[in-house]
Amino acid sequence: MRLPKYSIGIGDRFARQGVAQLDALVRAEREGVEVAPVWNKSYREHTIVGTAPGDVRVEADAAVKARDWKSPYFVDADHISLANVEEFIESSDFFTLDVADSIGSPPEADDLAAFIGKCGKYVGRLEVPGIEEPLEISRQTIEDCAGKFLRAVREAGRIYRRVEQVKGAGAFVTEVSMDETAEPQTPVAMFFILAAVADERIPAQTIAPRFTGRFNKGVDYVGDVAQFTREFEEDLAVIAFAVREFGLPANLKLSVHSGSDKFSIYGPMREALLRFDAGVHLKTAGTTWLEELIGLAAAGGDGLRVAKDVYKTALSRLDELAAPYASVIDIDPVALPSAEVVDSWSGDRFASTLRHDQSCPAYNSSFRQLLHIGYKVAAELGDRYFDALEKHADIVAANVTENIYSRHIRPLLLR
Ligand SMILES: [Zn+2]
Repeated sequence: MRLPKYSIGIGDRFARQGVAQLDALVRAEREGVEVAPVWNKSYREHTIVGTAPGDVRVEADAAVKARDWKSPYFVDADHISLANVEEFIESSDFFTLDVADSIGSPPEADDLAAFIGKCGKYVGRLEVPGIEEPLEISRQTIEDCAGKFLRAVREAGRIYRRVEQVKGAGAFVTEVSMDETAEPQTPVAMFFILAAVADERIPAQTIAPRFTGRFNKGVDYVGDVAQFTREFEEDLAVIAFAVREFGLPANLKLSVHSGSDKFSIYGPMREALLRFDAGVHLKTAGTTWLEELIGLAAAGGDGLRVAKDVYKTALSRLDELAAPYASVIDIDPVALPSAEVVDSWSGDRFASTLRHDQSCPAYNSSFRQLLHIGYKVAAELGDRYFDALEKHADIVAANVTENIYSRHIRPLLLR
């Protein structure tokens, strides 16, 4: 099973927008770029919403059938570990093996020594096509990288082999993810991580590093764009080189766990992808759910009341909702409008405060981030929320499609 050159992770909190999401890719195909949809949902999300991995499979299959989509599509067991892989095996065909927790735990001494031995030939100046200056590699560099990452890759191997045992080799896509950690990985570290991935015989088709800068949920990139761009380009060069050097799958590509809406780096990413003729997997976060809220608010009446109630409850439970996401949000409590203020708002005012349009004076990134993590509140509303979605399905769907196509696919892959 081969992941195409371009693919997009389209998380969908409540599994109601599969068709609307797929419509964005239908539109992209019409405009000349083929992008494979990957419906991703993490264990954390399933736990908070109260859904099961099989629900994502049902959603994806139904959307594909409704639109008669003939190209590849996938269901991603997102950020899974050995502890929860079992629940995902049957319904998923894409596995994001999250081994960030094992980064930094020292490997077994024998394993470390053997790995350093195998990589000894890279000590010195390593020419990587596409990177101007050769990489300077010492024995210490290899030891440091292995010390940090070897155990994590071994852990990925254990999860991979468990899935392989059930589904069979070649029957699924494997991603190795190390993004949910504090320290970014350098291109040199990427090279030795890939050496270890090959040594562990994981046929990874995507790799998700932690990049420099902040990738907060649902808002733009915060960091040094020039530095990110350099790092991104060097990663592309290292991956192309490692594929040949280590015999990894030819379509191995970067997976960018964007947290959604990293508009300021889409341009540089697009240029780099073209220059290296590289593919990419863009994993967005659950911002489809924010489009649901924008649609409900814009619909007015009962839809707007639901949207306001979600905000007011989320505001009163800020600390609880923020806890699982502490490292990937930056909410300024002072910037959050009070319940009374929001109560007085029109639907347009609510929608324009939430919609990620940085040129709009009403846009408020703290408001947006709070609602992004507030999906638990909507889940608790249950039928009241779902009935509102049903009633305003058209306006919601239009928002969902437009968001994925115009704000993500077009700037990253079209122009
Ligand atoms: Zn991630």
